[in-house]
Amino acid sequence: MSIRLRLTLLYSSILALTLIIFSVTLYMTLERATLGFVQDTLAAEAERLLDRQVITSQFFSFNNREYRIDTITLPNTKFATPETFVQTITPQGRPLYQTYNLMREALELPLSERGRAVIQRGQSWSESIDIQGEQLLVYTRPVLVNDQVIGAVQLARSIEEQDRALDALRQVLIAGSSLATLLAFGVGWVLAGTALRPIDRITQTAHAIGAERDFSRRVNYQGPQDEIGRLATTFNEMLAALQAAYRQEAQALEAQRRFVADASHELRTPLTTIRGNIGLLRRQPPISEADRAAVLADMAEETERMSRLVNDLLMLARADAGRPLRREAVRIRPLIDDLCRNLRLLEPERRIVCDNALELAVLGDPDALKQVLLILVDNALKFTPVTGTIRIATAAREQSVAISVQDTGIGIAPEALPHIFERFYRADSARTGGGSGLGLAIAKTLIEHQGGTISVESAPGRGSTFTVVLPRAAVALPQEAQSAPVA
Ligand code: ADP
Repeated sequence: MSIRLRLTLLYSSILALTLIIFSVTLYMTLERATLGFVQDTLAAEAERLLDRQVITSQFFSFNNREYRIDTITLPNTKFATPETFVQTITPQGRPLYQTYNLMREALELPLSERGRAVIQRGQSWSESIDIQGEQLLVYTRPVLVNDQVIGAVQLARSIEEQDRALDALRQVLIAGSSLATLLAFGVGWVLAGTALRPIDRITQTAHAIGAERDFSRRVNYQGPQDEIGRLATTFNEMLAALQAAYRQEAQALEAQRRFVADASHELRTPLTTIRGNIGLLRRQPPISEADRAAVLADMAEETERMSRLVNDLLMLARADAGRPLRREAVRIRPLIDDLCRNLRLLEPERRIVCDNALELAVLGDPDALKQVLLILVDNALKFTPVTGTIRIATAAREQSVAISVQDTGIGIAPEALPHIFERFYRADSARTGGGSGLGLAIAKTLIEHQGGTISVESAPGRGSTFTVVLPRAAVALPQEAQSAPVA
């Protein structure tokens, strides 16, 4: 059974019940009031009659016992209402005297067993009785002599009129209540339908979304922010969140697809070169010794490039797979001192400036951080002429530490800047000299996995500065040394 039907039935039944209780109470009150009025009239008439009664007692003896016969004689009076029937009865209920209207119809006013018992106790009794298809209210009042019930006077009057009025009232109440209940059911049904319509719409939207996987749909609700309004809003918010998640998922899938395509393409280039060179080596008659040496050198270089690429891809895949990186306090100074020492050994002819690194610690993975700095320094070396300068500096911020690698190289064009952290992106492939375009993508992934950020500032022809910012680790370190450039 639907909520709509249940709600409508519930409040229709409550209304019906209320109407029934009201109608029954009203009917019973009115019935008691009208019959009470007739009964009071009869009682008053009885009193008036009995005021003027004549009781004659006759005494006689039989078989040496004294007997008394009491006769109640009512005054020969005209009644205020001629439709009143009057009769007197013995305590056993046998009629003694009747008014003409009773005699004419040859009727006797009855007295039930219960009534007789009440009368014999000296109390009045009234009951409504059906005589020849007509409802009469019979009031019986005992007549007492010396506290002894010697008989009773009965007065009766038709209550047909009252009955008819009560009948009409009953019909009006039944018809009215039924009509009101039916009306309430109809109105309730419409109201419940209106109130529940947004829920229907939510169901339809949910169904349509399930069928079409279209998370851009929304429930159209313009009503007040009540329970249903809040449900519609929450549902729409959930849809917006789902849409965002779905879009993100789609973008991730697209990026993945592009990545696989780019990776295959990158791998195919050296493979094609190697395959061509193998063909050259197999050629008959064999190529000259000098060509052979050149081909082999070319093959060695391509193999080297391929293995670098495969290494980069592996590293990126691992970073992507969310390989858990360590989150520990990494001291900056020894890390940068090590890096600078190695750089000066490997590139003695380059001008490498390492500012005296601050005695600070960051929260991160030492290996990953080293890897990132190597990528940045490698790029700086690659894109800076031998006469240029490469500077590695650290700066303390309130909650974080910034490490920057600055060069005075060729710089990056403004239109290329937003893309340089993308996979396989190379700003100027003619000058990048065999780079895979993965270095900065790897650096960005590794830094973000450590809860840090990486950014770049660059001016073409003047140089670039890459800055890595990582959360500062709260550890006690030796007094922070002031940075002083050491060449
Ligand atoms: P690659 O392996 O080609 O160096 P990266 O992802 O490390 O790939 O760099 C992407 C591109 O960004 C490079 O091809 C280069 O054009 C540009 N780039 C990166 N670092 C620098 C830099 N220090 N100076 C100028 N251009 C840079």
